[in-house]
Amino acid sequence: MNDFLHAIKAWRETIGSQNVITEGAALESAQTATFSTTQRIPAIIRPGSFEEVQQCVRIANEFKIPIYPVSLGKNWGFGSRVPVQTCCVVMELRRLNRILDYSEDLAYVTIEPGVTFQQLYEYLCGKGSNLFMSLTGSSSNTSLIGNALERGVGSGPYGDRFNHVCGLEVVLPTGECIHSGMERFPNAKTGKLFRWGAGPSIDGLFAQSNFGIVTKMSLWLLPRPRHFQTFFFHLRDASRLPALVNALRSLKLGEPLKVQLGLMNDYRVISFTGQYPWQEAGGKTPLPLAIKERVKKEKRIPAWHGTGALYSANSRLGRAGRELIKEILQPQVDRLIFIDAFKARVSRYINVPYRLLTGINLKKFMEFAYNNTPFLGVPLGEAGGVTMTYWRKKNPPPEDVDPDRDRCGIIWLNPTVPLEGREVQEAVRIIEDVSLSHGFEPNLGIRLVRERTADINAAIVFDREAPGEDERAMACHDLMLDRLIKAGYYPCRLGIQSMNALPQPQDDFSCFHRALKQALDPNEILAPERYQFGETAQSGLNTASPLAGIIE
Ligand SMILES: Cc1cc2nc3c(=O)[nH]c(=O)nc-3n(C[C@H](O)[C@H](O)[C@H](O)COP(=O)(O)OP(=O)(O)OC[C@H]3O[C@@H](n4cnc5c(N)ncnc54)[C@H](O)[C@@H]3O)c2cc1C
Repeated sequence: MNDFLHAIKAWRETIGSQNVITEGAALESAQTATFSTTQRIPAIIRPGSFEEVQQCVRIANEFKIPIYPVSLGKNWGFGSRVPVQTCCVVMELRRLNRILDYSEDLAYVTIEPGVTFQQLYEYLCGKGSNLFMSLTGSSSNTSLIGNALERGVGSGPYGDRFNHVCGLEVVLPTGECIHSGMERFPNAKTGKLFRWGAGPSIDGLFAQSNFGIVTKMSLWLLPRPRHFQTFFFHLRDASRLPALVNALRSLKLGEPLKVQLGLMNDYRVISFTGQYPWQEAGGKTPLPLAIKERVKKEKRIPAWHGTGALYSANSRLGRAGRELIKEILQPQVDRLIFIDAFKARVSRYINVPYRLLTGINLKKFMEFAYNNTPFLGVPLGEAGGVTMTYWRKKNPPPEDVDPDRDRCGIIWLNPTVPLEGREVQEAVRIIEDVSLSHGFEPNLGIRLVRERTADINAAIVFDREAPGEDERAMACHDLMLDRLIKAGYYPCRLGIQSMNALPQPQDDFSCFHRALKQALDPNEILAPERYQFGETAQSGLNTASPLAGIIE
């Protein structure tokens, strides 16, 4: 019997046949992402406990079968569940879905990889907790640990997610287990509270890497502020973006405010509010300018739409913070509206006349903007912002959104840019040029989760069912990435298609990285090529692999 079949037999004996999938629709769907991929997946394994993860890894080593761990595999726009290299067995960790520890006083939670944002939200509600978790714009049924390990970003003061985690439990590629920080010591009281431990800090080795499988992690939660305000601002003239970015930086870097800030361009807002007007556009792409202007006028969409939230310790500080924000932002924007508890209350009474006069459902708006807002950790539901991926589809998004299944096309590009107006403007200009020249709308968001850099997220959104779109979108991605890198705006997160796209480092980083990988994973069984730059031919099947004869 071939080594692959031996491994399958051993996994079946260890975790049960029902948790080892070797054929059917599940494999087909695991091979599907939101862009074209050629990787084949010979099997999916679903261990149900830490011990089973360890045993599965040992089996992978024994038979030298590469495995690719995912938590829930909803890494849409970056490759979904598809491994970087072909012929990896996908290890899904969704059965490890326990919330293991929680402290209201010290504001943390300890979880397994299968725990979703929605599950944690419901858990905290059930406890009557005053704490909340920073959310993403994706579905609430995504994994907190998966998101953290990709160094995903979210809303609120803890939006730089990996900066607010600690005490990782990691199964190494050899099957051994380590804990980060103080968690390695018996009776350590700060294992879930103090990141650095004593000695080298190793958390960072396990984010955006292939050095281990994280089976447990503590994430810090935010206490709900005593005084809370949201604010929205509009910029009609896009040429004023640099001055606005500089003003936002001074709020983030210079002022003692706990504030969340973000921007979306008009194309992003339009894609959230509807679908591509195929008939009106006569089938042409990108969105004709006249139609774009009509939609913007009708829906009152500015060139850039800004969102913010201000978290304060009391109303006096809240009012002072609001004045400061007004002072700094007002000269740079066309519209600035604050919403606080008083406004939210009043809106309930004037909803009906307001609706008759303006057509706007104030109650619904306030639910999203203030009462049950993602800025306070209230998930937007399974769909989240994922409806955006249906922008170019001919049918409306279903309730159970699934961009992989529905052949929605999306590729994300996440350049990190100095938080300076002219730099952000230049990166935006590159993205706009390349998108439009390839027939796509430059769909852009900018998150200010850090004090010195802007996280730009550019989405290339397309319909995978339209002939030629897969190729055109990837060509657009490749050129955009190339131009951004040449301009010095390197991506802070990579998709499976771009793991080899970065230039050679100018120092000895590659040797250091290779030495670590060889030491930790001598049989190269864990997620080959994931953030393992320039190591082997992308997606190529190693002909020495036991799988070479099984999968063409
Ligand atoms: C419209 C839209 C909006 C989005 N908005 C955001 C956003 O605001 N912020 C954001 O960050 N992302 C966003 N995303 C991207 C993505 O959906 C999220 O990042 C999502 O959290 C990733 O999927 P997941 O949680 O299921 O993680 P997974 O897919 O399970 O994990 C991601 C990767 O991490 C590695 N990994 C996962 N778990 C483990 C483990 N336990 N051990 C070792 N390695 C592991 C694997 O390589 C895996 O491929 C968005 C996507 C879309 C389509």
